[in-house]
Amino acid sequence: MTQNVQDDDGSGAKDGLSGDDQASQRRMIEDLFEGGLETQVDPFPETDKEFSKLLDQLRELGPEDLREKLVVSGWKLTPHGEDEMRCQECMYYLVHKRWCDLPELDLPAEPEWWCRLWRI
Ligand code: SF4
Repeated sequence: MTQNVQDDDGSGAKDGLSGDDQASQRRMIEDLFEGGLETQVDPFPETDKEFSKLLDQLRELGPEDLREKLVVSGWKLTPHGEDEMRCQECMYYLVHKRWCDLPELDLPAEPEWWCRLWRI
């Protein structure tokens, strides 16, 4: 299984965000799910048009709109589907930074997490 190492310097820190900020964002995501957050995992965008539409929706959100970003992207803290799709194999995942580098999301992510913007 290949790992994505694009733009990943192995430092473990996302540009512009301190380790504390990243940890706090990660905790906020986990807390939202512990609080029962439900996200829109379906429908999975099968076409470029559907994918772009989701990106458009995400672009309308402000940087502080964490909850809505998670809802629109269909974020999950577990692998998804029969194939167990997960961030680890997604083209937007920075393995060493444990970060989703899709600009419209730009959030901390664990390898076992997933969202419906998943691409390989
Ligand atoms: S786009 Fe989704 S699946 Fe891909 S790294 Fe980001 S959060 Fe994970």
